[in-house]
Amino acid sequence: MADCVFCKIIAGDIPSKKLYEDALCYAFYDINPQSDTHFLVVPKAHIASANELTEENAAVVAHIFTVIPKLAKELGLESYRVINNCGEGAGQTVFHLHFHVLSGKNLGEKLV
Ligand code: 5GP
Ligand code: ZN
Repeated sequence: MADCVFCKIIAGDIPSKKLYEDALCYAFYDINPQSDTHFLVVPKAHIASANELTEENAAVVAHIFTVIPKLAKELGLESYRVINNCGEGAGQTVFHLHFHVLSGKNLGEKLV
């Protein structure tokens, strides 16, 4: 999508610190980390948010949830939190579906 920052990152038009890439998804470190380790995993296809998931396009989410544990193992993360913000009211600022993966000693007890 033309003016989507994550589509531009996937295309290489905006630089990113890439962790992993395959045909379906792209993983990179968050520019503004909220914990010791903070990366994002996004589908390569532009899906604006979790609200736009359907039977037709949701398989990529299962795929992403197989990639996340592989990356966690590679990075030596013993425990981590996966977060998706859906909609402005929930804190979504980039409208290309993404999963935050956070790990480290400064994680709070619950959600953030
Ligand atoms: P949201 O608030 O939509 O759940 O999360 C968007 C995330 O994308 C934020 O944590 C923000 O720091 C990150 N982000 C926004 N723009 C860029 C960018 O250009 N590069 C990287 N690496 N992360 C970005
Ligand atoms: Zn996009």
